[in-house]
Amino acid sequence: DKEKKEDAKIEGAVQIAIGVKKEVDFAGWYTNVLLKSEMIDYYSVSGCYILKPWSYTIWEEIQTWFNAKIKELGVENAYFPMFVSQKVLEREKDHIEGFSPEVAWVTRAGSSDLEEPIAIRPTSETAMYPYYSKWIQSYRDLPLKLNQWNSVVRWEFKNPQPFLRTREFLWQEGHTAHLTKAEADVEVRQILDLYRRVYEELLAVPVIPGIKSEKEKFAGGLYTTTIEGFIPTSGRGIQAATSHCLGQNFSKPEMFDISVEDPNVPGGKTYVWQNSWGLSTRTIGVMVMTHGDNQGLVLPPRVASIQVVVVPCGITAKVNKQDIYDACDNLAKLLRVKGIRSRADLREGYTPGYKFNDWEQKGVPLRLEIGPQDLAKKQTLSVRRDTGVKAPIPLEDIASSVHDLLETIQSEMFERAKEGYYSRVKEITKWDDVVPTLDSKCVVVMPWCEREACEDDIKERSGRASEPQDERAPSAGAKSLAIPFDQSKWAPIEQGKTKCPACGTDAKRWTLFGRSY
Ligand code: AMP
Repeated sequence: DKEKKEDAKIEGAVQIAIGVKKEVDFAGWYTNVLLKSEMIDYYSVSGCYILKPWSYTIWEEIQTWFNAKIKELGVENAYFPMFVSQKVLEREKDHIEGFSPEVAWVTRAGSSDLEEPIAIRPTSETAMYPYYSKWIQSYRDLPLKLNQWNSVVRWEFKNPQPFLRTREFLWQEGHTAHLTKAEADVEVRQILDLYRRVYEELLAVPVIPGIKSEKEKFAGGLYTTTIEGFIPTSGRGIQAATSHCLGQNFSKPEMFDISVEDPNVPGGKTYVWQNSWGLSTRTIGVMVMTHGDNQGLVLPPRVASIQVVVVPCGITAKVNKQDIYDACDNLAKLLRVKGIRSRADLREGYTPGYKFNDWEQKGVPLRLEIGPQDLAKKQTLSVRRDTGVKAPIPLEDIASSVHDLLETIQSEMFERAKEGYYSRVKEITKWDDVVPTLDSKCVVVMPWCEREACEDDIKERSGRASEPQDERAPSAGAKSLAIPFDQSKWAPIEQGKTKCPACGTDAKRWTLFGRSY
């Protein structure tokens, strides 16, 4: 019955329906939502997309919040060129090995070939660190904490998907240098926690913080911390953001030689400890996939560029239209004065029904309707985008009621998303349960030995059962997503007793495994 109602609702939205159902054709649903909400448009270069204002404003909200937080930590913004010389790019062996298949090169200018090809940064470690070497001469120059908001290019051959995996993407990349490992370690976790808050507090998307396996860590780094997200509809994990400790790998004399005299050892020399950390526009894609429904986008209030739309209703020949329009306009203005991003939709020539669908499709968190009867009763009818729940709100003290309602929407969206994630993290101790669990669109958490050979084996065995796949499609084999920092949710691992269900050797920590994007 509910299903039928849902169908009827969709059919009712004739001209602007989303077209395909989220549960039936997830990939088709995703692109339709993005196109119809005017978040993106396709572009003439494959794997690249235009971010239209409706999505870019979300990125701006993230930027504003994150910038304020990192500045409190003493980070300053700067900008480095997008071009990297081949020599510099290839200085760190593991690093370039990790990135080389995806590096785009400029080989020609006008009609002449360049003497040496120039790389477009896939990330900026190697572009920046020669200058860190020059700028850091004394321990008094430490810590050095720079960040840049830029785009990077990774010519990925896996299926591109708007926001999640694109060939050029927007992100911030922070690069810091410290005197001690202890100091670097602290910052890695501080940044990771800010990333967690971007997802959880702004986007209402739950993530699990942890550390990456050796196989999955950042190329050339010492260790990688991650927040792992999850898309319930596809049952796939997604690396939501990463904060890396690079150790002294890039500061060593044979690399970029970034050293200072050690203040604690007379005549001694110390190579600096470095971190790098990045958060990309992938954030937006994860948010869309998490909250969107068969009517379109559902935006969490804190990042929505319009939080409230006011729509005039019930206008007939007998009604003074201008009174209603003025009431809508005044309400939107009043809310704006109180810091609530609001707009009155006074477009001529569209029915209220059309406007409802239009704003629903664009995911505006709250609709306020004003008709003649509402005006007479000094109230407005509120309709929540996330639940569809309708309730009248008195115009008296409306700003504070709307503010509270938006906060309620935000927190309930997060609670629902949390339930959607946590209920699909399945504790496993027998290998036989792994593939069926993955097939039921869940992720596995199991005691793991942390050996790379075992991880390869798990990927191979968990991918084998499925049908042959386009090799560019998201992989069918499971990989380790994260070793969660918080191990307390599961039974303690007993040294020498708890075994890894994949290979039977001693398990070390509970680890999340899943199919992923
Ligand atoms: P990395 O420096 O490789 O760890 O990348 C930092 C973050 O950027 C990752 O944790 C991903 O969330 C995100 N990211 C990586 N590749 C892409 C891509 N092709 N498109 C969008 N976001 C990406």
